[in-house]
Amino acid sequence: MFTKEIFKRDNFRCVICGRGKAEGIDIHADHIKPKEFGGKAEIENGQTLCAQHNFQKKYYKQTETGKRMFIRLFDLAKKNNDKDLMKFCEEVL
Ligand SMILES: [Zn+2]
Repeated sequence: MFTKEIFKRDNFRCVICGRGKAEGIDIHADHIKPKEFGGKAEIENGQTLCAQHNFQKKYYKQTETGKRMFIRLFDLAKKNNDKDLMKFCEEVL
């Protein structure tokens, strides 16, 4: 894995919330496309996530129910033009 290169490219900050080592937050190198789906161990397929967002992403991606729930929530947010909710769903999906 290219953990160090990914961290460096993303300035040691979570790509979602921008928090990082400076805030005392643990960061992880995440596969954007999971290995199970043919994602490669390349810098381009990596992103820096804080512990919280790394956990959230794993949790919701792992379960089909979780994923479907967020797709529905996103549609609902679009209908209501709820930008905050849309942004949150986009971050998870
Ligand atoms: Zn984060």
